[in-house]
Amino acid sequence: MAITTLNIPIERAEVSKIEQVDFDNLSFGSVFTDHMLVCDYKDGQWEPPKIIPYQAISLEPSAKIFHYGQSIFEGMKAYKDSEGQVWLFRPLDNFKRLNISANRMAIPELPEEYFMEGLKTLVKLDAQWIPQKEGSSLYVRPFVFASGKGFHASPADEYKFLICLAPSGSYFSGKVKVLIEEKYSRAANGGVGYAKAGGNYAGQFYPTQLAIRKGYNQVIWTDDHAHEFIEEAGAMNIFVRIGDTLITAPTSDRILDGITRKSVLDIARDEGIPVEVRKISVSEVVEAAKNGSLKEMFGAGTAAVISPIAGFGFKEVDYELPEIEDSYASRLKKRITDIQFNRSEDKFGWRYKV
Ligand SMILES: *Cc1c(COP(=O)(O)O)cnc(C)c1O
Repeated sequence: MAITTLNIPIERAEVSKIEQVDFDNLSFGSVFTDHMLVCDYKDGQWEPPKIIPYQAISLEPSAKIFHYGQSIFEGMKAYKDSEGQVWLFRPLDNFKRLNISANRMAIPELPEEYFMEGLKTLVKLDAQWIPQKEGSSLYVRPFVFASGKGFHASPADEYKFLICLAPSGSYFSGKVKVLIEEKYSRAANGGVGYAKAGGNYAGQFYPTQLAIRKGYNQVIWTDDHAHEFIEEAGAMNIFVRIGDTLITAPTSDRILDGITRKSVLDIARDEGIPVEVRKISVSEVVEAAKNGSLKEMFGAGTAAVISPIAGFGFKEVDYELPEIEDSYASRLKKRITDIQFNRSEDKFGWRYKV
């Protein structure tokens, strides 16, 4: 690992807000720690990051983020083990993906040192905010947006990179009922679906609201061309178990390269579970549900790790999935969280000490 000389200046909060937080009743991502990292892009380069008290930021009304949506983000977590040691999970992959998103949105790439050193310094500084309750963690949100001003529809000349931290309870929301989407699309070939770009999520809200009104919790996105293949589960990657085979769609322009997805694939292979990475047609899933070979469906992403699906709707028909013992979902979730919380060996080298 590179030894860095970056010494990030820290302006400490005068008083900590930590006493005001009820760590036994945390929701997801709605309370923030005492500090945040800020890094500005000006005059053609990223300036060194600094850490300041968590606070509101001020922007010009013409800042391009408001008009042209140049905005990208990442999501990851910091974990505290039973001995109080602090860990991240595959953070370099988040850094690389942030720059993939940056490129697609014509945002200047960030230097690795600013991201990694900034992240470590901030998490260390606010480490007492990492909840230790089972399943809880500190949600880490790095993001970059166009702060440069002007109504001209072109990339901004100034940007801000920030990292904020939010102590969060476990994301357990129960099993979800999903609707296979037949009209709207999340992403298209040549588009920005593979980037964690803010607008991708804005575009998902309306179709998701329609699904919620129909009694579902979430949308299963299908290909934009003919809505023939299932691609993602809300803002998570999707897995389907037919018989004993675990299947997920290959990444593409339209499918985000999730770190949880990659980890699930590696662990499933390690467990000897037959794995297929290929297109999954809606008709195959419906057929499998009818003949009883559809055993499980679940979403995979940082927030929930694995989110089991109870059933799905398609063409006005609801299909229920069976309750099964020893589900892949619970087995895989346990293996991943055991690595994250330093409760097991980390044979893949994913854990990263802060
Ligand atoms: C963030 C995200 C995922 C999951 O990625 P992780 O790295 O596992 O958190 C999957 N799909 C979409 C659309 C996402 O935005």
